[in-house]
Amino acid sequence: MDYINLLKNNDLKVTPQRLIIVKELDTKGHMSIDDLYIALHSAFPSISLATIYKNINVMINKLFIQEVKIPNEKSVYELAKEEHAHALCVKCNAIMDMNLDVSKFIRKAETLSNYSLSKSSVIFSGICPTCQMS
Ligand SMILES: [Zn+2]
Ligand SMILES: [Zn+2]
Repeated sequence: MDYINLLKNNDLKVTPQRLIIVKELDTKGHMSIDDLYIALHSAFPSISLATIYKNINVMINKLFIQEVKIPNEKSVYELAKEEHAHALCVKCNAIMDMNLDVSKFIRKAETLSNYSLSKSSVIFSGICPTCQMS
């Protein structure tokens, strides 16, 4: 993926910090602000959590990064892609993307609630395959 063009196409100034943030999110997926801080700290020892937050929020506003809100946990971030569901491991906090069609689910929810629903966030939690074996 061309991270420089990704930033440019979204009218963002290309900075070394932003490039690393985008690359980390692209290659590792779901990362919290703390994970990003650890990843950036070696290259930019003076970087602060506030700076990372600010950069993430700018990129969320441009809609190419999205926040995954996890109940009772810190949010993680990923590059925006098609709507998908997540499976969360409660032991090791691993998160997996699943291409699950939630449209039927949403229609059922609309019938039950009489709401007109536009957004959904589906997170399943349990034990991942690695933790099941240990
Ligand atoms: Zn696990
Ligand atoms: Zn995801």
